[in-house]
Amino acid sequence: MFDKMLVSRNPVPKNTNRLVYLWILLCACCWGALFSLLLSGCTYDSGWSAEPEPLRVTFLDVGQGLAVLLEHEGRYALYDSGPDSAGLMDTLASRGVKSLDWVLVSHFHRDHGGGFMEMGAAIESGQLKVRRLLVGLDTAVGFVSDSVYTVARRYKIPVDTLERGDTVYFADGFRLECLWPVSYGRFGENRASVVLMGSMVGPQAGRESAILLTGDLDTAGENRLMELSRDLSADLLQVGHHGSACSSGLQFLSRVAPRYAAIGVGKNNRYGHPKDEVVNKLRIVTGDSSAVYRTDLHGSFSFEMWPGVGLVPEK
Ligand SMILES: [Zn+2]
Repeated sequence: MFDKMLVSRNPVPKNTNRLVYLWILLCACCWGALFSLLLSGCTYDSGWSAEPEPLRVTFLDVGQGLAVLLEHEGRYALYDSGPDSAGLMDTLASRGVKSLDWVLVSHFHRDHGGGFMEMGAAIESGQLKVRRLLVGLDTAVGFVSDSVYTVARRYKIPVDTLERGDTVYFADGFRLECLWPVSYGRFGENRASVVLMGSMVGPQAGRESAILLTGDLDTAGENRLMELSRDLSADLLQVGHHGSACSSGLQFLSRVAPRYAAIGVGKNNRYGHPKDEVVNKLRIVTGDSSAVYRTDLHGSFSFEMWPGVGLVPEK
């Protein structure tokens, strides 16, 4: 009877207590989960709290030739240096470039290495610093290669030779891979062009945007590259050999499938670059003729690679 009463007296308070404990436990779990969510959110946010800086890729108007300036947080590098007598030193000075982490000469043709040949005076006067010279395995020797190496020797600029598989550092989160030439091949002139794939690599999503720099690589080189690299897709393609008909095979262009195409080319050049057929192929693969940018028509132009966003033309 007593037990029964106790049971009968206590059941309500007993059950209530149990429910209250359960409720507190449940709340604690919920708050714990919420806090950890908030905490992880904060951790994620803190990685992005400082506004990210874009990596800027500028195709400099150097007449008939190629010079692509990379810029990130006040640091600079140059893929090809355009021809000599194209005012590259003035162009760099007007953009506030006092130091180049590296200058890459894709191959030893004057419209790509000429600007580097002229850098001596600027280095001598302290106007410009060049920390490194990058070259490929171009077998062509002559005036341009001699002059390029002379400048490097005279101003004690270390020289690195690139081949497929090498990576070049420029900025954190930006991977620059050398896709060409292969070490076992011996190529001269256009086919020797150093090809770089530059990818913005995000903390979460992996490869976010990419640019493909091909120098003057010809169609035969493009075909070999397609055999070697399964993924050649890039948002921006530097069109090979100034839009010559000897480059930009349709199959290659469709493998790259660029959203934008950039051509370094001189106004009214004597080669008739870029060829209409190439411009037409670019229109087909980009799906938009206004996605083809040319230094002869637009002057210097830039694209920005924004971390977490992608590649956009700079307005
Ligand atoms: Zn060229």
